[in-house]
Amino acid sequence: MQYKVVIPAAGSGKRMGAGMNKLFLKIGCQTIIEMTLTVFGRDKRCNEIILPINLEERELFESLPYIKEFKEKLTFVQGGAERQESVFNGIKAIDDKKSIVLVHDGARPFVSEKIISTLLESCCSSDGVICAVPVKDTIKKVEQEVVAKTIDRSTLWAVQTPQAFTYEVLEEAHTLAEEKGFFGTDDASLLEWNGKKVKVVTGDYFNIKVTTKEDLIFAEAILQGRHE
Ligand code: C5P
Repeated sequence: MQYKVVIPAAGSGKRMGAGMNKLFLKIGCQTIIEMTLTVFGRDKRCNEIILPINLEERELFESLPYIKEFKEKLTFVQGGAERQESVFNGIKAIDDKKSIVLVHDGARPFVSEKIISTLLESCCSSDGVICAVPVKDTIKKVEQEVVAKTIDRSTLWAVQTPQAFTYEVLEEAHTLAEEKGFFGTDDASLLEWNGKKVKVVTGDYFNIKVTTKEDLIFAEAILQGRHE
């Protein structure tokens, strides 16, 4: 099954505090964004990678050595002020309205072909498919430093990307969300808000999002573990 992927990469990396787009930080000898792009670049089922970026960084992206082998698959578009806007700009750049579209955070370099295959296998049975892992910690709702509620952990999953959709359903949800001013922290939440069915498949605890400085240490350890 062929697919296209939108990889938002236009963040400023505020929570990382590196003073630059965190996607240009290296894990081992590759930048985070090269690691992410290489998985989709080498996957024969992926026929286009749409990359919403800050266009001022375009030369920097184009100069990355590891992306040269699949450069013809890449389409750069302008990112937005929020992740959701960046993704929507990417969706608008897709010509084939019958496509299966995956959305994947540029900051998740440990995505695997196995996860992509699992999502594609489930893609036809619902409006959207996401990967997630059961939470390990006890999660509490806290208000003004006081516990308001402990949430039943057995129902809680930590959601990751990639997330897979048909173009039509994804485009419709983004268009409506923009019109009504609804913001979600992932794309599936726009479908849920729009009354669509989102299926969950088991992701991978190694598929972390590199967000803060500690995550760089975890990422180095995951990479090391892969080489042992
Ligand atoms: O900040 P966070 O890591 O949660 O962002 C997830 C992904 O969305 C990152 O790959 C980041 O580059 C991207 N993003 C974007 N445009 C924004 C904000 C974030 O493309 N305005």
